[in-house]
Amino acid sequence: FRTNSAGLADVKERTLIAVKPDGVQRRLVGQIIRRFEQRGFKLVGLKMLQVSEGLLAQHYCQLTQKPFYSSLVEYMTSGPVVVMVWEGHNVVQSSRVMVGATNPAAAPAGTVRGDFSLHVSRNVVHASDSLEGAQREIQLWFQGKELVEWDCWDQTLTCEK
Ligand code: UDP
Repeated sequence: FRTNSAGLADVKERTLIAVKPDGVQRRLVGQIIRRFEQRGFKLVGLKMLQVSEGLLAQHYCQLTQKPFYSSLVEYMTSGPVVVMVWEGHNVVQSSRVMVGATNPAAAPAGTVRGDFSLHVSRNVVHASDSLEGAQREIQLWFQGKELVEWDCWDQTLTCEK
């Protein structure tokens, strides 16, 4: 276990996961949620929305100068997204592994992108790529009151206290 300064497993780590418009259209929301639930992570925020270009520009602020940015905007605003906050030990890094490489061609079978997508421009899901990125994205997409603090009774079975 990675531990925090108090020597406790870091069960409060959070990340932002989004099912992109292609994933929503293809009815993959349930399957994607199921993977995070069955791994043992705790859902603390969930909503569906039509993304604005402004929010997207903030979310993808490091990509706005990339040649694919305008097609990325078109894709991400083509329909609703389902955005979630998941909590648990090492959730940022583990989610990236579960989601797979940005380009689905390089994503192994068993990952979300490796199982459900073919092309980098339609890769079904977003997952924060670092602790700092996760914090920034959660603040961007959710208001504090939209995140729910709750005790998941089986947490002592999936993590050492
Ligand atoms: N993307 C794209 N073409 C590219 C690279 C990225 O359309 O050549 C899109 C793709 O949807 C990707 C998103 O831009 O998920 C953000 O790219 P990033 O490099 O941040 O990858 P991610 O963190 O999503 O794996």
